[in-house]
Amino acid sequence: MNQNNKVSLIDYCIPCKARCCKTGKLIGSPILSNKEAGRIGKNNLKKVKFPKGEYWVIKEQQSTNRCFFLNKQNKCKLQNLKPLDCLCYPIKAVYEKDLIRFITDSDCPASSFLNKEFIRESKKIAIKSIKRFDRETYQHWLDNYVGWVRKTIKLNKV
Ligand code: SF4
Ligand code: SF4
Repeated sequence: MNQNNKVSLIDYCIPCKARCCKTGKLIGSPILSNKEAGRIGKNNLKKVKFPKGEYWVIKEQQSTNRCFFLNKQNKCKLQNLKPLDCLCYPIKAVYEKDLIRFITDSDCPASSFLNKEFIRESKKIAIKSIKRFDRETYQHWLDNYVGWVRKTIKLNKV
C-alpha cells in the first residue's frame, strides 16, 4: 500500500481496502534488509530459509492473511518505516537475462493511473530494493513470496 511515496495513491487505496497488504498466493511479504528489520523491530518479523541463508519477512496477523502491520482501518502502522518493497508497489524491478526491467501489478486498482512522477520515484525505490540482495536471493523471494510477479512477468513494461 503506497501512501508514503512523493505521489500518494491514497485515493485508490482507501476504496481498495489494502488488497496489497493482505498476503496470499499472489501477494507476499516484503523481504527486508537487516537494517530495515532492525528499524521495524524483529519481534514482529520472521526469519525464513533461503538457498543462501536466512532472511527477514513480516509475519501475518494470527489466523489471517493480513500483514502484521495492517491496522483495522486498513492503514499501515509503519508509515515512515515502510519497507522499500511496499514503497515502490505496484511497481517492481525484476531480472530479465542480464538486464533489470520494471513491471506493474495490474490487479492494483491504481496501476492504470500512475503518473510520471510516481513511476519515476517508484522505479528509483525498486532499483534500491533489487540491489540489496544477490540475484539468487531476490529471485527466490519473487518466486516464493510474490505471486503476482510470475503472473505479470510477460506483461506491461513501464
Ligand atoms: S492494491 Fe493498489 S490501490 Fe490497493 S491498497 Fe495496494 S497500492 Fe493501494
Ligand atoms: S508493511 Fe505496511 S505497506 Fe507493507 S504490507 Fe504491511 S501494512 Fe502493507
